[in-house]
Amino acid sequence: MWDIAAELEGLERQHLLRDNRTLRPAGGMQAVDPRGRRLLHFCGNDYLGLARHPDIAAALCRSAARETGSGAAHLVSGHRPEHGALQEALADWLHRDRVLLFSTGYMANLGVIAGLLGKGDLVVQDRLNHASLLDGGLLSGARMRRYRHRDTQHLQHCLETSARRRLVVTDGVFSMDGDQAPVAAIRDVARRNAAAVLVDDAHGLGVAGPEGRGVLAEAGLNQDDVPLLVGTFGKAFGTFGAFVAGPSEWIELVLQRARTYRYTTASPPCLAAATSCALGLVRSEEWRREHLAALISRFRRGAEQLGLRLLPSQSPIQPIIMGSAAAALEAARALEHRGVLVTAIRPPTVPQGSARLRITLSAGHTEGQVDRLLGALEGIATGTGDRRSEDAGTGR
Ligand SMILES: *Cc1c(COP(=O)(O)O)cnc(C)c1O
Repeated sequence: MWDIAAELEGLERQHLLRDNRTLRPAGGMQAVDPRGRRLLHFCGNDYLGLARHPDIAAALCRSAARETGSGAAHLVSGHRPEHGALQEALADWLHRDRVLLFSTGYMANLGVIAGLLGKGDLVVQDRLNHASLLDGGLLSGARMRRYRHRDTQHLQHCLETSARRRLVVTDGVFSMDGDQAPVAAIRDVARRNAAAVLVDDAHGLGVAGPEGRGVLAEAGLNQDDVPLLVGTFGKAFGTFGAFVAGPSEWIELVLQRARTYRYTTASPPCLAAATSCALGLVRSEEWRREHLAALISRFRRGAEQLGLRLLPSQSPIQPIIMGSAAAALEAARALEHRGVLVTAIRPPTVPQGSARLRITLSAGHTEGQVDRLLGALEGIATGTGDRRSEDAGTGR
C-alpha cells in the first residue's frame, strides 16, 4: 500500500531528508543564499575555477546566438560542427583514436556499460564506484560483482568465474573519498583475466596528470591498457556534458548500441562550443593545477594541526568523516553559521556510519579563503569523527 507521508517521515527521522538550496553566484567562490547571506563555499566540483570564466561564457553566447537547441538526437539531425570539433579536440588531448559525446556522465555510464554488456557477461566494480556505474551494470543484465575498495586481490577473486566477456569498472578518483584507483595494478589483473577496463575519471581529468589528462596519463596507461575512458565536463571544465574516449572500433560499437546516446536530444551545440574553449584553458593554464595543489597541501597541513583526521587523498576532495548522518548535518550547520558552506554527505551516497563533510578545494579559492575554512573548522569536526574515520577507511 502507498503511504507516502510515512516514507517521508521515515527519511526525516533518520536525518536523510534532502532539499534543494537556491544559491546565487556572488563572485569568486562565494554564493548568496535565499536569506541574503553571503557564504564562502567548499562543496562544488569546479576544481579549476572555470565555471565563471568570461572567455567560456563568450564562446557559449556566440554559438547560442545561432541556435539554442539541437532539435534532435545526434543520429537524426542534431549533430553539429561544435560537437565534432569538441570530439576531435578531446581525442587529441587524450591521445585516443576517437571520442563520443554524451549529454551527461550519468547517461554516458549507463549507455556504455549497458550498450556493450548483456546476459552471460560479467562486470566487476569497485564497491565505492559512482552510482551511475553501478546502475549501468544493473541495467546491462550482465552478472555484477563488487570488489572491496581498491583491493586488487579481491578483484582477482571476483573475476574467477566463467563468463562470455568481462569488464572491470572503476572511478579514477573516487568522488566521495578523493583517493585514486590503483589503475596500473587493475590493468594487470584485468589483462591476466582477459577482461577489458573502463575508468570513469570525472574527478581526475583536468586536475591530475600532464596537461590535466587524468589518472591514466599520470600512470602512463594508454588506450591499449584501458580502452574505455569516461569523462565529464560538469567538474573541472566548468560546463556540462560528458564523453567516452577509446579505440575507433570500441567507440563505433558504443555509438551503435548505447540507448542513452540514440534516444535523447543532442545537447545544445553552444555547450560544446563552451567546453572546447574550456579545454584550451585546461590544457594550457598549468598555473591552475599548481595553485590547486598548493591549496590542497595548505589545507591538509592546517587540518592536521587542528587534529582533524583526513583520508589519504591528494585530490581536491578532502572529506572529514563524522560517522552518523546527524553528526555530519550538525557540523555542516555549524560551519554555515560561520559563513562557510560545506555539504554533509550521508547514506546512501556513502556507506552507513561514514557520513561526512565533503570539502572540495578549487583553483578559484585563495590561500586566505582556505585559512578562513580552517578557522571555521576549529572546534567543530573533532570529537565524534576521529575514531570512526579509521573504521570507515578500512571496513568497506
Ligand atoms: C559526477 C559524476 C558522474 C556524473 O556526471 P554528470 O555529468 O554530472 O551526470 C559520473 N561519474 C562520476 C565518477 C562522477 O563523479
